[in-house]
Amino acid sequence: MRDKKAYEFWFVAGSQFLYGEEQLRNVARDAEDIAAKLNESGRLPYKVVCKGVMTTAEGITQFMKDVNYHDEVAGVITWMHTFSPAKNWIRGTVLLQKPLLHLATQYLEGIPYDTIDFDYMNLNQSAHGDREYGYLNARLKLHNKVVYGWWGDPEVQAEIADWQDVAVAYDESFHIRVCRFGDTMRDVAVTEGDKVEAQIRLGWTVDYWPVGDLVEVVDRVEEEAIDAEYEKLQQDYTFARQDNSEEDFTKSVRYQLRLYLGIKQFLDEKGYDAFCTNFQDLKGLAQLPGLAAQLLMRDGYGFGAEGDWKHAALTRLLKILTHNDRTVFMEDYTLDLRKGHEAILGAHMLEVDPTIASDKPRVEVHPLDIGGKDDPARLVFTGMDGEGVDVTIADFREGFRLIFYAVDCRKAEADTPHLPVAKQLWTPKCGLKEGAVAWIKAGGGHHTVLSFHAKPEQIRELAALFGIELVEIR
Ligand code: MN
Repeated sequence: MRDKKAYEFWFVAGSQFLYGEEQLRNVARDAEDIAAKLNESGRLPYKVVCKGVMTTAEGITQFMKDVNYHDEVAGVITWMHTFSPAKNWIRGTVLLQKPLLHLATQYLEGIPYDTIDFDYMNLNQSAHGDREYGYLNARLKLHNKVVYGWWGDPEVQAEIADWQDVAVAYDESFHIRVCRFGDTMRDVAVTEGDKVEAQIRLGWTVDYWPVGDLVEVVDRVEEEAIDAEYEKLQQDYTFARQDNSEEDFTKSVRYQLRLYLGIKQFLDEKGYDAFCTNFQDLKGLAQLPGLAAQLLMRDGYGFGAEGDWKHAALTRLLKILTHNDRTVFMEDYTLDLRKGHEAILGAHMLEVDPTIASDKPRVEVHPLDIGGKDDPARLVFTGMDGEGVDVTIADFREGFRLIFYAVDCRKAEADTPHLPVAKQLWTPKCGLKEGAVAWIKAGGGHHTVLSFHAKPEQIRELAALFGIELVEIR
């Protein structure tokens, strides 16, 4: 799979000539110090590069144009150490095409009562400098992030870190390429959508490839390559043959590994990082990709079942945001409506991402009642406890709508010996009834991306950056 770029963020301090050269040198020194210490904190996922002090409209405009031009720069962090007249920022800020974080901070954490004088005040003007700068950004209707507080505070640094992940996900979104094997499932409405609008608004390239082209690649996968994957699989997971014959079990697992390697090769050669399948369009394949899809999701590829390209891309996007940490394609599968137990049980026929397993996944082979293909191997496991968000994207004629709620997740209450799929239980924090009613009324579908890592604020910021409608249910 295509690697993410080695992203960095450019950091600048705003100032002016009013206070003399020496103060400008002090501004530069303090800015360098903050950038260095942010990097040294180890809390930021991406490097901050100090680009010095900005004092003129011409300089700021040139700086922002440079930011746009440098592909490795995912965003800008600005700091108003002294008073920086905001008219100087208008042209450059209007031209900026990348996310902006206004770090509303002060060099010293407290007020140095014993030593404070007018020299100190000429330098340390964030308290009013931030307001001047904020006015301009508000007037420009920018969806910039404001992080407020002392820059050395771990909580402030965590906010910067979360925003960096959003900014990188936003940039990467314009490189997401989805490979559709087959069309969307017949008669289904919610998986449909406007692919041109998706590319304009979200940056997603969504292409169709005939499953026959994939079959050719899958059939050419060499037995030795499958041997090696089989061995790895035995190390990572528990093989549970149950009442399958040794021969049938091995054959099914090996065929899924053939699919895994074939699909991976197909995607990599053509530059795709997400894909969807449709059980109605598998001609030439012996099984629906089950274990194969699960292993590809584990590796970080986006996936959508039943031809759902929107959720294939959304899965990939949120995997980038979260560094592929416990962020998975999901489906509302069945409900617990008993008082005191209210929950949604999430699962899928086969394709549940093992990065949310709390136990060691078992490789099992069972019949699949739809699709009319051979019994597919899949990973069966229990999900985990924790907080998260559940997110979906729907396409309306007037545009995309991102819908989400915060959720409390937990393991399923019991095993399901006759339903051999991976399972995850969750309840919207606002309550199942309230949450589900709002979700249904907003037109949210049954396919979602569930993440234990993404935070509500990050979902809000993404929607704002893309300029799409957000429905937050709470
Ligand atoms: Mn589905």
